[in-house]
Amino acid sequence: MGRRKQIVQECERLMDKPENIRNIAIAAHIDHGKTTLTDNLLAGAGMISSDLAGEQLAMDTEEDEQERGITIDAANVSMTHEYQDTNHLINLIDTPGHVDFGGDVTRAMRAVDGALVVVDAVEGTMPQTETVVRQALREGVKPALFINKVDRLINELQEGPEEMQERLQSVIGDVNELIRGMAEDKYENEGWKVSVQDGTVAFGSALYNWATSLPQMQETGIDFGDIIDYNRNDNIDELRENSPLSNVVLDMVAEHFPNPEKSQPERIPTVWRGDDSTDLAESMRLVDDEGEVVFMVTSISIDPHAGEIATGRLFSGTIERGQDLYVSGTAGQNRVQSVGLFMGGEREEVDRIPAGNIAAVTGLHDAIAGSTVSSVEMTPFESIEHISEPVITKS
Ligand code: GDP
Repeated sequence: MGRRKQIVQECERLMDKPENIRNIAIAAHIDHGKTTLTDNLLAGAGMISSDLAGEQLAMDTEEDEQERGITIDAANVSMTHEYQDTNHLINLIDTPGHVDFGGDVTRAMRAVDGALVVVDAVEGTMPQTETVVRQALREGVKPALFINKVDRLINELQEGPEEMQERLQSVIGDVNELIRGMAEDKYENEGWKVSVQDGTVAFGSALYNWATSLPQMQETGIDFGDIIDYNRNDNIDELRENSPLSNVVLDMVAEHFPNPEKSQPERIPTVWRGDDSTDLAESMRLVDDEGEVVFMVTSISIDPHAGEIATGRLFSGTIERGQDLYVSGTAGQNRVQSVGLFMGGEREEVDRIPAGNIAAVTGLHDAIAGSTVSSVEMTPFESIEHISEPVITKS
């Protein structure tokens, strides 16, 4: 059996274990390294060849995006990652980095439970960072921080360990100010403050494929001084081997982002205004794969063979081929033609997708980004507010 087939089978096995699923988005200001990071996470998880990572830009699937060098459509990938002897299914939704696509960013946030905020260590938080953090918090999505391009602090700015730590602390402080401003209760009481000590901050270089965090430093004994030495002595290969980006970042994801069973009871009241005393509400809160189908479409993409693909978060029930489903705002029903998951830039068809996962569905001709698709008529998810102007400014 080919490696890809094996990964698909493993993803299918893990789809039925909500406690091992993490649905996440990477959110960043344009050029801060989201695409490079994503490619290297995929390569680290064995989803694309590591030689191609950084060149292939697996997430930028549209030709137009590659030409313009920006990610327009929220692309999606699934990968597996072993953490503490347990394999995890990580469903990753890419978000547009450009400010004009604010609605798409918010839609992507609705489908996930954790947001990996990527900030360029040299530039620091930028207006778009503020916008994406606000969008995540507004949707009840827990943040964690990856400070990228740390190689530039060492190689270009020639900073020593203390200056580097000061700069990283200042980025962490800015991000925390945003979190506290938007979600004070969670910041104070639920560990939403990002901190090196708690392991909710990692930093490194997506380009050179290394990263670290406090847990990683404790495990490997590699400190700031060592990282600087590896960089200055042209010994990046060893640093990459000892402290690989994908392990450090995906460990943080597995440890700190909530699984769907933990997150849906809190998120459903935040993102859905229907009657919370109904069986339907209960089955969404419980991630019940035997409940009615409730699927929130976050993006529509076009496949030359399969046609329109509706991608989104399945909050309840199990999606299978042949089901007739209601699409909010339209009359009648659409019949599901196939269900699948995204791997790299490609869609893999599977027999069924249970609640708690990100699904790619064909046959939903009437669906648009933002549609609620369900097996019973229901109150649709709340309409998405576009936030394009950051309200909180950097101090
Ligand atoms: P996106 O717009 O956030 O997806 O950013 P990209 O991943 O396309 O990266 C933007 C630019 O920054 C590209 O030229 C990358 O090669 C570069 N880049 C990304 N990560 C790093 C890094 O860790 N260090 C350095 N020096 N450059 C990086």
